Parts: sequence; C-alpha cells; structure tokens
Amino acid sequence: MKCWASLSTQVESTHSIYHRITEQINTVLCAHVVHPDTIIIAYLCWTGLVLNLLILSPHRDDAAFSLTISIAHWLAVGHRVTVLNIFTRSLYAPYSDADTVHDNDRLTYVSAMRKKEDESFTRCLPGLAMVDLNLKDAPIRLRCETDIVCDMDSDPNDTALPKIRKAISSQMDSVHSTHALVIPIALGRHVDHRVVRDAALSFSDKLPTAFYEDLPYAARTDVREDLTRFREDASTRLRQQLHPSLVYSTLDHSAAFKLKTATLYASQIDEELADTIARFSHRYQDSNNQGDEQRGGERLWVNDLWLAQASANNLSVIQPDKEATPLP
Ligand SMILES: [Zn+2]
Repeated sequence: MKCWASLSTQVESTHSIYHRITEQINTVLCAHVVHPDTIIIAYLCWTGLVLNLLILSPHRDDAAFSLTISIAHWLAVGHRVTVLNIFTRSLYAPYSDADTVHDNDRLTYVSAMRKKEDESFTRCLPGLAMVDLNLKDAPIRLRCETDIVCDMDSDPNDTALPKIRKAISSQMDSVHSTHALVIPIALGRHVDHRVVRDAALSFSDKLPTAFYEDLPYAARTDVREDLTRFREDASTRLRQQLHPSLVYSTLDHSAAFKLKTATLYASQIDEELADTIARFSHRYQDSNNQGDEQRGGERLWVNDLWLAQASANNLSVIQPDKEATPLP
C-alpha cells in the first residue's frame, strides 16, 4: 500500500479502474482455464499497482532493438506498455527493395514497409500498444544526407520538439495517463534520438524516468563518451543523479527471442547486426539465475523517482556494481 500512496497523484480515475477491473473479470469468466498471470494482473488492477509506461522510440525499430526484454518483462508483471513512435515517415530502408520503387512513391512504400515490421513485433508481445506520431525523420525533415545524421548539431528550433512534447502531454492526459517514461540516451548521437531525448527531458522532473541504451549504437566502444557526457549533463543541468538499473529477462531463451524480434526489422539491419543486438543482452546476466540457460538483460539509467518505484512495482533492479561495468 506504500506504493499506492506514493502514486496517489498519478493513478487513474475510479471510472477507468472500474472498467479495467470489469475487463479482467470478463477475461476470467470467459477463460476455460484461468492462467496464473490473469489472477496476478487482476490483483494488480484491483490494488492499483498497474503502471502505464510510455516508451519513446525515435524510429520504428529503436524500442524493439533496445528494450524487447524489458517490454516482455513489464507486460509479464502486469504493467501497460505503450510505444510512441516519433519519426515514422522515412525513406530509409537500406536492406530492402525500395530502390526499385519510383522516387515519388518511395516515402509511402518505405513508411508502410516499416509499419508492417512494427506490426510483426507487436504480435510477438501481446498487450503492447503502439502510437505513431507520423513525423518525418532527419533526412527528410532537415534535408540532410543519411550518412551525417550522427554528426550534425541538433537545432533548438527543430519543429519536431514542440510536437513531441505535445504528444507526451496528451498521453499523460489520456485515460491511461502515463506513470513513467522510458527515453533514449541517444548513444551514437543520432540527431533524431537527441531531439526525442531533449524534448522529453523536462518531463523527467515530474515522472519516474528511465533512459535506455540505444542499440545497435550501444554495442560500439566509441559511445562510452556519449554516456559519460549525458550522465554529467543530467547531474549538472537537470540536477538528477542517474542510477544504473537492470531488467532481467523472464524468458528462458531471451537472446534467441531478442534475435527473433530484431530480425523482424529486415529492411533496417542485416543478420550480423541482429546478432550483435541479441548478444549485447549477455553482458547483463542475472547472477541469481543458476539455470543452464543464460538469461540476458537490458540496462536503464534511472532517476530517483523511478528508483523509488522500481522495486515495489517490478520495474528494474539497481545494478550493485557502483562502477556500472561493463560500460559501452
Ligand atoms: Zn533510431
């Protein structure tokens, strides 16, 4: 009940809780066999411990590459997870047949292809919700070549910034108002990732917030500097200490599952990169897991508000190593 008290300003209205409980009762009544998860979720709804987590994904694949294990875990313990896809209008599909399409049709063709990839991903994670913001990605919006998107300065007047903030605000005001935010760190410095992160930063002093390690960039050693700089910025500019926190897989074959979901985005990465993304989870092993199967994990950098909720709500566990090794 301590958790309920701390969330008292953010929990949903009695009306919406009533509807969710009704939905759960209907689920129980309609099921021939009551799955244990159904009982747990019904209990969580009843006690108000279901959190609405909002993940910001700059492009369609970022949440999948970086957070598949975390999303699976949060859904398994009964939370609601929504991915807000920001820059969903794109010409970028290097591993597809998009070059065979007429230039005038390429934007529609590529954007639709990438939407289908996302739909395949959501089918792997029942319960996951997705909302598209339909903004144009950097090469279209900023009229730049794709090979400089990680080297250019972000523009404080980027028209995407107020649109992203408005979208987050409307999610916070929706029926399932947001209880916690999950934001990219922008490892690798992709300008679209930095714009999304910077747009969302102002919400982190009000909401439990976790910053995720962007894959596949996080697998490169040269992004350590990006992480260090971001932690220093958070400390000085935002006056927030960020704590390394781990989400361990609840799946028996987590790396295989991560590989499977990464390969769904076949227009964006090749097999080697999908394998890199999957293997990255091995660096965050659960030392308490004594089984034969190595269960991987994902690391988040979380603020004090998140940390206060993390244990009671099964969000993540603090990384015991104060040095936070391994660093990228
Ligand atoms: Zn991206």
